[in-house]
Amino acid sequence: MKTIYDYPYEDLIDLFATMGYKKYRADQIFKWLYRKRAIDFASMSDISKEMIAKLEENFYIMPVELVTKQVAKDKTAKYLFKLHDGALVEAVLMHFDFGHSVCVSSQVGCNMGCKFCASGLLKKQRDLTSGEIVGQIMYIQKEMDEEDERINNVVIMGCGEPFDNYDEVMKFCKTVNHDLGLAIGARHLTISTCGLADKIKRFANEQVQYNLAISLHAPNDELRDQLMPVNHAYKIAELMEALRYYSSLNNRKITFEYILLKGVNDSDECARQLAKLLKGMNAYVNLIPYNQVDEHGFKGCDDKTILHFYDIIMKNGVKATIRQKHGDDIDAACGQLRAKKEAEK
Ligand code: SAH
Repeated sequence: MKTIYDYPYEDLIDLFATMGYKKYRADQIFKWLYRKRAIDFASMSDISKEMIAKLEENFYIMPVELVTKQVAKDKTAKYLFKLHDGALVEAVLMHFDFGHSVCVSSQVGCNMGCKFCASGLLKKQRDLTSGEIVGQIMYIQKEMDEEDERINNVVIMGCGEPFDNYDEVMKFCKTVNHDLGLAIGARHLTISTCGLADKIKRFANEQVQYNLAISLHAPNDELRDQLMPVNHAYKIAELMEALRYYSSLNNRKITFEYILLKGVNDSDECARQLAKLLKGMNAYVNLIPYNQVDEHGFKGCDDKTILHFYDIIMKNGVKATIRQKHGDDIDAACGQLRAKKEAEK
């Protein structure tokens, strides 16, 4: 059985057409799901008994079940969810001045193998369906409804490589973006990729307004080869070429994520190389303090080093920001909580 969340609005119309239902039924059900946040078909009061029975026969609604929730001192909340087949995924709710942001997972585990990341501790088991990603949002939104709060921002930066699950991730974005539903603005949705250049070009052609973030983490191939195996497949030059193509079609700023790892990629020379690489692009660098993953042995940099690195980039003509740390006192690095649970099993 599938979750009904797997169907973006347009797909729901097509689905209902095959079941013999008119288009307005899709509008009704879509609103029930995403505006009224119904998690039970039987509660949909203006839907006929016959249709409810048919929906119940073929679909379920909520695809995630809460296993554990950790809340940090700064109220950052980490959710560990179980899917219908028992697979575990994580999502994080963060609170900013501009509103509430949720970070969702796109795969169960990850195959990209970045050397510093907890997600890769467990190989990819499977892709998530779009509905399973939507479910992470809906679970958290339903909880927030009790306080009359809404999710303003979504980042696909949890476990998994979104562009390794391209179609489902695009469907997910469509669903949460749709006006009849949650209506999270396209500019409030961010897809973060480790740099699958062919998919970046495909994404460029879609000409959608979602934000694109690139996990760069090293300014040259020698270093990036060591940190991120994906760099063996797509060298920095190829990645940059795909991004220039993206920029030629989309007037959107690109974010470059750069985790500062002590003694690895934090030198003055790295900062200068990074600025040189990005100069002239419609881009900025987001410097990320490292969430330590003990299994990997890397250490984060102190604030002074981060600020110094920031200064060099800015002086060399490239804009930068430093990411606030959230949920330091919980297992907030992607994959940490899940890896722990799997180890307990
Ligand atoms: N696969 C995608 C999205 C998931 S990772 C990608 O690579 O972008 C989301 C971001 O978190 C990436 O920039 C990733 O490099 C970063 N990240 C991974 N592990 C981290 C850690 N322990 N501390 C801080 N950032 C981390």
